[in-house]
Amino acid sequence: MTWKELPEGWFEGYRAFETIAFISLTFLAGQIVFLEWFHQELGFIARGYWIIVFVTWGAIRFGRHGITFVVTMTFIQAMVGAAHGIGFFGRDLQESGLINMQLAFLVISVIGLLLTLVIHELRKSQADMKLASIVYQSSSEAMMVTDANKSIISVNPAFTEVTGFQSDEIIGKTPRILSAGLHSKEFYQAMWREISATGKWQGEIHNRRKSGELFTELLSINTIYGPGGAIQGWVGLFVDISEKRKKEELIWKQANYDLLTELPNRRMIHDRLNEEIMKCQRDNRQLALMLINLDRFREVNDTLGHQYGDQLLIEVTRRLITFSQEKGILGRLGSDEFAFILSNPNEINRVGFCVNSILEQLAIPYHLGNEITYLTASIGLALYPEDANDVTTLLKCADQAMYTAKREGRNCFYYYTSSMQEAAIARMRLANDLRYAVRKKELIVHYQPIIDLSTGSIHKAEALIRWQHPRIGMISPDKFIPIAEETGLIIEIGEWVFHQAAAQVALFRANYNPKFQISINKSPLQFKMGSNKCHLWFEHLKQLGLPGESIVIEITESSLMESKDNICNYLLMLRDNGMQVALDDFGTGYSSLAYLKKFDIDYIKIDKSFVQNLNSDSDDLILCEAMIVMAHKLGLMVIAEGIETWDQFELLKKFGCNYGQGYLFSKPIPADEFSKFFEKDNIFFPKKEKFLLN
Ligand code: C2E
Ligand code: CA
Ligand code: CA
Repeated sequence: MTWKELPEGWFEGYRAFETIAFISLTFLAGQIVFLEWFHQELGFIARGYWIIVFVTWGAIRFGRHGITFVVTMTFIQAMVGAAHGIGFFGRDLQESGLINMQLAFLVISVIGLLLTLVIHELRKSQADMKLASIVYQSSSEAMMVTDANKSIISVNPAFTEVTGFQSDEIIGKTPRILSAGLHSKEFYQAMWREISATGKWQGEIHNRRKSGELFTELLSINTIYGPGGAIQGWVGLFVDISEKRKKEELIWKQANYDLLTELPNRRMIHDRLNEEIMKCQRDNRQLALMLINLDRFREVNDTLGHQYGDQLLIEVTRRLITFSQEKGILGRLGSDEFAFILSNPNEINRVGFCVNSILEQLAIPYHLGNEITYLTASIGLALYPEDANDVTTLLKCADQAMYTAKREGRNCFYYYTSSMQEAAIARMRLANDLRYAVRKKELIVHYQPIIDLSTGSIHKAEALIRWQHPRIGMISPDKFIPIAEETGLIIEIGEWVFHQAAAQVALFRANYNPKFQISINKSPLQFKMGSNKCHLWFEHLKQLGLPGESIVIEITESSLMESKDNICNYLLMLRDNGMQVALDDFGTGYSSLAYLKKFDIDYIKIDKSFVQNLNSDSDDLILCEAMIVMAHKLGLMVIAEGIETWDQFELLKKFGCNYGQGYLFSKPIPADEFSKFFEKDNIFFPKKEKFLLN
């Protein structure tokens, strides 16, 4: 059966000699031992165990075929010898009926076959090991084997190639030597949790080469279990995928960013706009989309060349980026078209101001090389959710608005919605008019008395500005102060109001009441814009012969919040010069009385929204009382705003509120009208009897 499949390679090359020697020597030995060849010379040493030598040779060198050959041939020789009564088993036929011979050959066959079997297995596992070793050594995958303590016991050449560590540098260390510190502790904890649960893990890891360079590897870790199931160690296999990732990143960048300006391209802007719309939807916020199209860019490109055009676009981008930082997302949609998503909630109210600044910025002449170029832009504006609530429609609306801007003569912006457009135009006109209002003496200050609630006397007034517009008529500060703040005109206006109030208080003090005080409102913008000219204010007061306490500054909580450092120094300076401070609109912001104590504040002004709802069983009643009590505990005085009824007045007086201001006493009035109060005993009149009832 063995020989049905012929042996391989017995007669190849030098092995042919060995095979011939093996066959002939085995034959010869059989003849000598069993058939008494050379009996005279060798009879005394011819023994049955000779055959063992050939069985071993056969087993080691010729395998199953060798063994069966030796056993079969020598058995036949021994039979022939026994039949003739010669050789090793010469007497066996008569004495034991060949039992000895059969036993001997059984032993020989078993030894031979066992030997081949063992040798075969040995060869096979050697071949496996050799194969494994070749794979390990020549694999392009980096491999690393650790013991149960996670210290490295072996690495392959690919490992050295990827990491730069030679095996002798790394054996005995833990894989942590490769760590770049880019993954959190939790990341590794989760990895080991999975390994102990499932025996393996696969994923991407950012590691560091010996050179310090970072690389990304796709790593798989497998546990090696011992015979009893105990963990013997781990094998880590990885490939360096840094290049692949870089390429993928590059492809992604090329698909999503504009090559020239490196701004997000149309596709990316679509995605970002979609994200922003969803955020606004969630937070119930507004968003403005601007399409900024350069005017006559093609002419520049055609006359001065594409290279110049590219430079120009880069400069336009630089200006837009400087402007847009922290306000929203900028992108380039096409050759001369940019998109700007104004998503910052603080900026959305100032969208008109924003577009105007962009137009101004872009219109500044461009000095490129030896050329000076003048360039303008047309901007289309669309709002979420007013105009549209999806990306495509919003873009379409902005596009239409942009074309309207082009049609209307370029270098301007247009809203998609006509009512907004009208409002924007009106506002823009107002902003323009306001620029000249101070010079044209259209602004006036009115004064509203502040009453001492316990005596009814008037020692204070608040200066409130008005705008007598030549076309529109009287405009309330609620309408134009925000515009003044947006355009920065508030600085100039604030200075003007201060000078007016100072002159007025000087007059009142000289003529009627030497202790009179006028409070003026100071916008948060006046602090923010760094115009802390307060030493000039003190000097001015000195020139008028006035002490600091003749003016009270009214500030809002947002001033305290937004410019803490500035304001602290400012308030200290005021205190040093005797000027008092009132916190306006108290209760409408993040009011914390204890927090206010840190700032040097003298009065709080309870906002009129609380006073207006005062009646004997409202929540506001309790709130007002609480505010008054707490303020007093902190050593602050309280002024209540917006008192319109006797009930409100009486309740506030009962709570111990120090001062009151409101239409019940007087509306804000021109200074000459105000003088009449002084002529009436400086006491709030005309309903003195009722006033003095309590
Ligand atoms: P404010 O500082 O809270 O001024 C009080 C506002 O309440 C004034 O409105 C005043 O006319 C109004 N008022 C007074 N008593 C009553 C009342 O009994 N009932 C009602 N309903 N209202 C009353 P006004 O004069 O329209 O001023 C509005 C806001 O404009 C002021 O609020 C202030 O924030 C700002 N403002 C006015 N003048 C200036 C200024 O010179 N500079 C700055 N930065 N802001 C100013
Ligand atoms: Ca005020
Ligand atoms: Ca107020």
